[in-house]
Amino acid sequence: MALRRIIKVGDDTLRKISKPVVKFDKGLEDLLDDMWETMFSNDGMGLAAPQVGVLRRVVIVHVNNMRLELVNPTIVYEEGEDIENEGCLSVGSDHKKVKRPYKVTVKAQDRFGYEFTITGEKYLARCICHEVDHLNGILFIDKVEE
Ligand code: ZN
Repeated sequence: MALRRIIKVGDDTLRKISKPVVKFDKGLEDLLDDMWETMFSNDGMGLAAPQVGVLRRVVIVHVNNMRLELVNPTIVYEEGEDIENEGCLSVGSDHKKVKRPYKVTVKAQDRFGYEFTITGEKYLARCICHEVDHLNGILFIDKVEE
Protein backbone atom coordinates (compact mmCIF):
# COMPACT_ATOMS: atom_id res chain seq x y z
CA MET A 1 0.00 0.00 0.00
CA ALA A 2 1.07 3.54 -0.57
CA LEU A 3 -0.16 6.98 0.25
CA ARG A 4 -1.31 8.93 -2.77
CA ARG A 5 -1.36 12.69 -3.13
CA ILE A 6 -4.80 14.25 -2.84
CA ILE A 7 -5.58 16.70 -5.61
CA LYS A 8 -6.96 20.05 -4.43
CA VAL A 9 -9.66 22.28 -5.83
CA GLY A 10 -8.42 24.33 -8.79
CA ASP A 11 -6.86 21.29 -10.46
CA ASP A 12 -8.70 20.42 -13.71
CA THR A 13 -8.65 16.69 -12.94
CA LEU A 14 -11.38 17.18 -10.34
CA ARG A 15 -13.69 18.58 -13.05
CA LYS A 16 -13.39 15.66 -15.46
CA ILE A 17 -15.79 12.76 -15.96
CA SER A 18 -14.29 9.48 -14.81
CA LYS A 19 -14.42 6.39 -17.01
CA PRO A 20 -16.01 3.07 -16.02
CA VAL A 21 -13.77 0.33 -14.66
CA VAL A 22 -13.62 -2.59 -17.10
CA LYS A 23 -10.70 -4.55 -15.69
CA PHE A 24 -10.99 -5.97 -12.18
CA ASP A 25 -7.32 -6.62 -11.79
CA LYS A 26 -4.37 -6.03 -9.47
CA GLY A 27 -4.28 -2.39 -10.55
CA LEU A 28 -7.79 -1.88 -9.19
CA GLU A 29 -6.95 -3.68 -5.92
CA ASP A 30 -3.84 -1.54 -5.47
CA LEU A 31 -5.82 1.61 -6.20
CA LEU A 32 -8.48 0.69 -3.61
CA ASP A 33 -5.90 -0.27 -0.97
CA ASP A 34 -4.01 2.98 -1.53
CA MET A 35 -7.25 4.96 -1.38
CA TRP A 36 -8.08 3.49 2.05
CA GLU A 37 -4.64 4.28 3.38
CA THR A 38 -4.78 7.80 1.96
CA MET A 39 -8.29 8.44 3.28
CA PHE A 40 -7.56 7.21 6.80
CA SER A 41 -4.30 9.16 7.02
CA ASN A 42 -6.27 12.31 6.16
CA ASP A 43 -9.22 11.58 8.50
CA GLY A 44 -11.68 11.40 5.62
CA MET A 45 -15.10 9.74 5.45
CA GLY A 46 -14.79 8.97 1.78
CA LEU A 47 -12.58 9.33 -1.23
CA ALA A 48 -13.05 9.11 -4.99
CA ALA A 49 -10.38 7.94 -7.44
CA PRO A 50 -10.20 11.28 -9.30
CA GLN A 51 -9.10 12.87 -6.01
CA VAL A 52 -5.89 10.84 -6.30
CA GLY A 53 -5.59 11.61 -10.01
CA VAL A 54 -7.17 8.42 -11.37
CA LEU A 55 -10.14 9.12 -13.65
CA ARG A 56 -11.95 5.85 -13.00
CA ARG A 57 -15.37 5.25 -11.41
CA VAL A 58 -14.15 4.05 -8.03
CA VAL A 59 -15.09 5.43 -4.61
CA ILE A 60 -14.72 4.40 -0.98
CA VAL A 61 -16.97 5.38 1.90
CA HIS A 62 -16.41 4.95 5.63
CA VAL A 63 -19.51 5.79 7.64
CA ASN A 64 -20.85 4.15 10.83
CA ASN A 65 -17.78 1.87 10.89
CA MET A 66 -18.85 0.41 7.57
CA ARG A 67 -16.25 0.25 4.84
CA LEU A 68 -17.77 0.39 1.40
CA GLU A 69 -15.99 0.01 -1.91
CA LEU A 70 -18.13 1.09 -4.84
CA VAL A 71 -16.88 0.43 -8.36
CA ASN A 72 -18.98 1.85 -11.22
CA PRO A 73 -21.64 3.10 -8.79
CA THR A 74 -25.02 4.30 -10.02
CA ILE A 75 -27.60 5.89 -7.74
CA VAL A 76 -30.83 4.12 -8.68
CA TYR A 77 -33.19 5.57 -6.07
CA GLU A 78 -33.37 8.74 -3.96
CA GLU A 79 -35.85 9.76 -1.28
CA GLY A 80 -36.39 12.78 0.95
CA GLU A 81 -33.92 15.53 1.69
CA ASP A 82 -31.42 16.41 4.34
CA ILE A 83 -29.35 19.57 4.81
CA GLU A 84 -26.10 19.17 6.74
CA ASN A 85 -22.54 20.44 6.81
CA GLU A 86 -20.26 18.79 4.35
CA GLY A 87 -16.53 18.89 3.67
CA CYS A 88 -14.06 17.39 1.23
CA LEU A 89 -10.40 16.37 1.39
CA SER A 90 -9.88 18.19 -1.91
CA VAL A 91 -11.37 21.44 -0.62
CA GLY A 92 -9.69 21.82 2.77
CA SER A 93 -11.17 22.83 6.10
CA ASP A 94 -14.25 24.54 4.65
CA HIS A 95 -17.50 22.91 5.73
CA LYS A 96 -20.74 24.18 4.20
CA LYS A 97 -24.38 23.19 4.24
CA VAL A 98 -25.43 21.04 1.29
CA LYS A 99 -28.82 19.54 0.46
CA ARG A 100 -28.77 15.82 -0.28
CA PRO A 101 -31.37 13.06 -0.47
CA TYR A 102 -32.12 11.54 2.96
CA LYS A 103 -32.00 8.05 1.54
CA VAL A 104 -30.35 6.58 -1.55
CA THR A 105 -29.98 3.19 -3.11
CA VAL A 106 -26.82 2.62 -5.11
CA LYS A 107 -25.96 -0.19 -7.47
CA ALA A 108 -22.26 -0.94 -7.81
CA GLN A 109 -19.62 -3.62 -8.25
CA ASP A 110 -17.08 -4.75 -5.69
CA ARG A 111 -13.34 -5.03 -6.35
CA PHE A 112 -13.88 -8.45 -7.94
CA GLY A 113 -16.63 -7.27 -10.26
CA TYR A 114 -19.62 -8.72 -8.37
CA GLU A 115 -22.69 -6.51 -8.54
CA PHE A 116 -24.52 -5.49 -5.39
CA THR A 117 -27.06 -2.93 -4.24
CA ILE A 118 -27.01 -1.04 -0.97
CA THR A 119 -29.36 1.49 0.62
CA GLY A 120 -28.11 4.14 3.00
CA GLU A 121 -29.67 6.94 5.02
CA LYS A 122 -28.48 10.29 6.39
CA TYR A 123 -24.63 10.44 6.50
CA LEU A 124 -24.18 7.27 4.51
CA ALA A 125 -26.51 8.60 1.79
CA ARG A 126 -24.74 11.97 1.92
CA CYS A 127 -21.31 10.43 1.62
CA ILE A 128 -22.32 8.17 -1.28
CA CYS A 129 -23.81 11.15 -3.17
CA HIS A 130 -20.73 13.29 -2.49
CA GLU A 131 -18.34 10.63 -3.76
CA VAL A 132 -20.44 9.74 -6.82
CA ASP A 133 -20.53 13.47 -7.68
CA HIS A 134 -16.70 13.40 -7.83
CA LEU A 135 -16.92 10.86 -10.65
CA ASN A 136 -18.90 13.41 -12.64
CA GLY A 137 -16.59 16.35 -11.92
CA ILE A 138 -18.94 17.85 -9.33
CA LEU A 139 -17.73 19.26 -5.99
CA PHE A 140 -19.87 19.99 -2.94
CA ILE A 141 -18.97 23.68 -3.21
CA ASP A 142 -21.09 23.73 -6.39
CA LYS A 143 -24.14 22.79 -4.32
CA VAL A 144 -23.80 24.91 -1.18
CA GLU A 145 -27.05 26.27 0.27
CA GLU A 146 -26.79 30.05 0.73
ZN1 ZN B 1 -14.96 15.14 -1.77
